[in-house]
Amino acid sequence: MATIHHEGNVELLSGKVAVLGYGSQGHAHALNLRDSGVEVEVGLREGSPSRAAVEEAGLAVGTPADAVRDAQIVSFLLPDQVHPRVYEEVAANLAPGSALLFAHGFNVHYGRVTAPAGHDVIMVAPKGPGHIVRRLFEEGFGTPAVIAVEQDASGNALNLALAYGAAIGAGRAGMIETTFAEETETDLFGEQAVLCGGVTELIRAGFETLVEGGYQPEVAYYECLHELKLIVDLIWEGGLSGMRHSVSDTAEFGDLTRGPRVIDYLVREQMKVLLEEIQSGGFAREWIAEMDAGEPRLAELRQQAGDQELERVGKELRALMRRERAEVPAA
Ligand code: NAD
Ligand code: MG
Repeated sequence: MATIHHEGNVELLSGKVAVLGYGSQGHAHALNLRDSGVEVEVGLREGSPSRAAVEEAGLAVGTPADAVRDAQIVSFLLPDQVHPRVYEEVAANLAPGSALLFAHGFNVHYGRVTAPAGHDVIMVAPKGPGHIVRRLFEEGFGTPAVIAVEQDASGNALNLALAYGAAIGAGRAGMIETTFAEETETDLFGEQAVLCGGVTELIRAGFETLVEGGYQPEVAYYECLHELKLIVDLIWEGGLSGMRHSVSDTAEFGDLTRGPRVIDYLVREQMKVLLEEIQSGGFAREWIAEMDAGEPRLAELRQQAGDQELERVGKELRALMRRERAEVPAA
C-alpha cells in the first residue's frame, strides 16, 4: 500500500518561496501559499504577459534571477521545456541550502537539471490542473498530490515537501509518497499508452472502421467519440463494474467478450516496449533532441493529426450541439 500523508507543518516554510512561472500551476501555488501565510515572490521573465495578473493579486514579482535570492524554496512551475535554461539563469543566485521544487520529475530524472549537493530536490505534483488546485483550495478542499525527494541535503526534505503540499491544500486530499523515477515513468507511460496516445488511436481506429464499413461519419463520431465521455464519467464514479452496471446487458456481454480481442496480447507487448523505451531513457533522448531542434516533427505530426475526417466531422457536430444548447430558452 502507498504511504499517504495528510499532515504537513506549514511553519517549516519560514522563508520565502520563489514561484517561477505564473501559468496553470504557478498561479495556484503562489496564491494558495500566500493564503496559507507563506511569503511568496513570483519570478517572471522580462515582458511576461502574466505580470499584470501577478500585480493585481498583490504578489511580489521580479525576474527569476532576482526572485530566487534569499528564497528558502524555488518552485519550477514553468513549461518543462524551459527548466534547464531557467535553471542556468538562476543557479548563481540560489541561496545556500535552498530547496528546488518541481511539479513533474522529467528534467531531474533524466538529468537535465542537476542541483549541487547542498540543495534539497523535492517534488510536489498536484494530480490536477492549476485552476482546480486553486478553486478547490478556495472552497476549503484540496487536490491530491504526489510528493518525492530526489536529494535530501537538509535531512528534512520530506517534511519540507509535506509542508509545501499542506500549504497548497494537497494535505486535505492526500499526499502520496513516490519517487522522481516512478512519477516520471508512470506519467509518460500513462499519457502514451492510455490517456492520450492509446485513447486517441482507439477512437480513430473505431471511427475509421465504421466509415470504411459504409456507415455515416456523423453516426460514427457520436458512437466512437462523443459517447466516450459519458462512459468515462461512469467509470470514474464507480470503476469498471459501476459502468457495466449502468449499461445494458448486451453492451456488457459485448464488452467482456470482445474487449480483450481488441486490446489483445499484441497491444500489451507494444505497451511493454513503450515502457522499456521510457525506462531506458530512449524516449527522453528522442524528445530532448526534438526540443533542441525546435520541435519540427511535432509541428508536422500536429498538422497531420488535425487534418483528418474525424476532426472535420467533429468540429461541425460540436458547433451544432453548441448552437442547439444556446437556442434552448432558459427555464
Ligand atoms: P504553464 O505553461 O501553464 O505555465 C508556464 C508559465 O511559465 C507561464 O506563466 C509562462 O508565461 C511562463 N514562462 C514560459 N517560459 C518562460 C521562461 N523562459 N521564463 C520564465 N517564465 C516562462 O505551465 P504548467 O502547465 O503550469 O506547468 C508547470 C509545471 O507543472 C510543469 O513542470 C508541469 O509538468 C507541471 N504540472 C502541470 C500540470 C497541469 O495540469 N498543467 C499538472 C501537474 C504538474
Ligand atoms: Mg500525467
